[in-house]
Amino acid sequence: MREELLKKLKEMPVFDSHEHLLHERDMLKKETDVIDFMTPYVCDNLMSCGLSEKVWQEANDKRKPFGERFALIGKYIPYIQNTTYFKSMLRGLKECCGMKEFTLSECERVNELLKKGVDTEALFREHNIRRAMTFVGYYGIEYFSDSKVLVPVPTVSYMAPKSEEEIRILEKESGEKVTGLDGLKRAIGAMFAVYRKCGLKNIKIGSAYNRTLDYDVPDTDRAEEQLLRVQRGEFSEVRLYGQNNRNLPMAGLKDLDNFVIWECAGQARKAGMNIIFHTGIHAWNRNDPEACHAKYLRKFIDAHADQKIVLLHLGYPFTAESLLLSKYYPNVYLDFAWLHILDRRETVRTIKKVIELLPTNKIVAFGGDVCTPVNSVGNLEISLENMVQAFSGLIGEGELTAAEAEEICRAWLHENPMKIYEVKA
Ligand SMILES: [Zn+2]
Repeated sequence: MREELLKKLKEMPVFDSHEHLLHERDMLKKETDVIDFMTPYVCDNLMSCGLSEKVWQEANDKRKPFGERFALIGKYIPYIQNTTYFKSMLRGLKECCGMKEFTLSECERVNELLKKGVDTEALFREHNIRRAMTFVGYYGIEYFSDSKVLVPVPTVSYMAPKSEEEIRILEKESGEKVTGLDGLKRAIGAMFAVYRKCGLKNIKIGSAYNRTLDYDVPDTDRAEEQLLRVQRGEFSEVRLYGQNNRNLPMAGLKDLDNFVIWECAGQARKAGMNIIFHTGIHAWNRNDPEACHAKYLRKFIDAHADQKIVLLHLGYPFTAESLLLSKYYPNVYLDFAWLHILDRRETVRTIKKVIELLPTNKIVAFGGDVCTPVNSVGNLEISLENMVQAFSGLIGEGELTAAEAEEICRAWLHENPMKIYEVKA
């Protein structure tokens, strides 16, 4: 039964709801090697088991011979080789480059193959990925306008400025002066005009990396005061090596962030765009587990009941909270992106719970959430296996027929994401 279901799933069209990929044209030109594929995620585990940030930085220094760089991380591999992050990376390399094992000679052989660039379109075609959403910063969206496979999603929460430099960037990109909240509002409006022009249907809010998700009704006096403090250069940022987003605890900036998030939600409503929230576990280390909880979003959801809201990663490890929010609120949808390679057993259990608790139209099954299409393919393989494990279990227990299971999987992999995110495949 399992083999048969897996074969069927592998033939189904897939809408990949979540990546962080370059335009396919630039991915083809970029020279990558195996160590590049360890960012994001595998590097978190490497640093969690003791590899220092400094050594990780050296391991990524391409001026050094590959063998030397490999040796820097080699002794840590036995500690992390059973983690799903590592296995899914290897899976992608096996599937796309025929890599057999993680040894220096195999890595060097694969590096030679990678020299010709990575062909996103060809890899996606081979694995039935019809379209992928790629999550990017809040500006530079036009870069994807001629992409055949990628649909950009701007991370609008980056418009909450945390430093003078970020204010300058926002002013440059929006063409508006950000001297007070009115200016900030105009800058946000100018960016949404670009999104509308590009026909975008979705925005992402990712400030869960810096705060708990209690996006209360903005207190404009406090928000204004905080913007002034940012302008005065009172906040300094910490940036971990390899980390894309700036890691600034929002303890003193929450009201300003609330202001930006509510303003963006208002703009999204006017533009008919959906709101996608990061919930749950974070990429990179040194994060606050309290910021994983999706339950804090309840008030915001209540206040935006007429807008479609998607919760990414199901608020893992506190998945029950996102399941409840989706059950209570007709406008809340769940996206399994990334969850599959975090914790396979929990994913399988969660799929079974979702079938029992929730309507089937609220679920998006797959998003790789990685930076190269090779890793996307590895994650897809694991995601399909997780689905097979969960659904064949339900069939075996007499809860679903095989035909029902197939129909649900087809919807979750393709029809639902297209409908929920309103993107054509
Ligand atoms: Zn992501």
